[in-house]
Amino acid sequence: MTTAPFVWEKYCDELGPEKVVHLYDPQIGMRGFVVVDNTACGPAIGGVRMAADVTMDEVFRLARAMTLKNAAAGLPHGGGKAGIMADPRSSDKARLIRSFARSIREITSYIPGPDMGTDESCMGWIRDEIGRSVGLPRVLGGIPLDELGATGFGLARSAEVAAPFCQLKLQGARLAVEGFGNVGRPAAQRLAELGVKLVAASDSKGAIYQEQGIDVEQLIAAKHQSGSVTGYRQGTSIKPDDLFSVPCDILIPAARPDCIHAKNAASIQAKLILQGANIPATSEAETLLHQRRVVIVPDFIANAGGVICASVEYHSGTQGMAFDTIAQKIRENTHDVLTRSKADKVEPRQAAIDLARERVRSAMLLRKKD
Ligand code: NAD
Repeated sequence: MTTAPFVWEKYCDELGPEKVVHLYDPQIGMRGFVVVDNTACGPAIGGVRMAADVTMDEVFRLARAMTLKNAAAGLPHGGGKAGIMADPRSSDKARLIRSFARSIREITSYIPGPDMGTDESCMGWIRDEIGRSVGLPRVLGGIPLDELGATGFGLARSAEVAAPFCQLKLQGARLAVEGFGNVGRPAAQRLAELGVKLVAASDSKGAIYQEQGIDVEQLIAAKHQSGSVTGYRQGTSIKPDDLFSVPCDILIPAARPDCIHAKNAASIQAKLILQGANIPATSEAETLLHQRRVVIVPDFIANAGGVICASVEYHSGTQGMAFDTIAQKIRENTHDVLTRSKADKVEPRQAAIDLARERVRSAMLLRKKD
């Protein structure tokens, strides 16, 4: 497979990238890239994406997103990302990951974590090779962020702060979740604790709707048994795309990129959108929704629970410390971004980018210039 050359002019700006490295191990057949975007706040943390078609362009965009996410969360970390060009189902996965780890041994400004196609075991192999990675299995001192629902917990904290910005009471508010997985499922559970009523949920196999409210724990059991939310018999089956137009107050997209777009934005009835997935809405759709006064908490503010957990793990913190930090940082950032968006009359995403860039620039000013 060939990859398009990395065109520096297209990517370089005042923040980075600091390092763009191509990796190749001719003996194992491992090919990949690492982008260390910016390390002003500290060594870069970002996931390792394993996919046959992963591109340098994608890895760069994800690395920049991590710079902004980590800075917005006030973590002592910059942003980076890596890609390994291989099928994650490969029987050679461990050898490829170990080869990748050895190739990045000297790039000490980059700390790898899990992403699409890699998991806790992969982080264990990387740590075994080079002594650094986050998102480790519990036996290696890791805080299993997906098992604990760290990102969903953070989304619920964001909802608590965002609700008054759209005159919404969480008690009795109706929720629709696209993608009932590691982010969507715990978000529904945590919001249920606040009196929010789940009315619709989807996964890759289908979607369900129940006006009176879905029992979240029964839905989890039904999905566990049948492999899909459609196994919840009390609900009515709907088309997955119709989830975006059901009557609800809060919408959490927690699966695909760009699932909210110009064509379905007008039919969204929610007053509040908490972006669980990365880039779940096109910029055109975000503008349309903002014009309709729908409050959006952007992905890198609302879904930072996972990386905050990874950072606490890296600094030898405990599970309790991770959850306290997630709550504090996500509450604070949701408040700052929505307040700034209102005051500056800009969309929340722009307010979030401004806030994150300011933090990175301030950190850069503290660095030695020569
Ligand atoms: P996951 O694989 O656990 O869950 C994704 C869910 O989405 C699954 O239930 C899947 O069936 C469903 N899905 C897939 N295609 C769908 C479709 N077309 N329509 C409806 N549902 C569909 O993944 P996850 O960890 O929950 O991650 C979801 C998103 O959140 C991704 O964009 C990920 O990058 C982002 N994210 C995850 C974390 C984390 O802590 N896991 C943190 C930040 C961002």
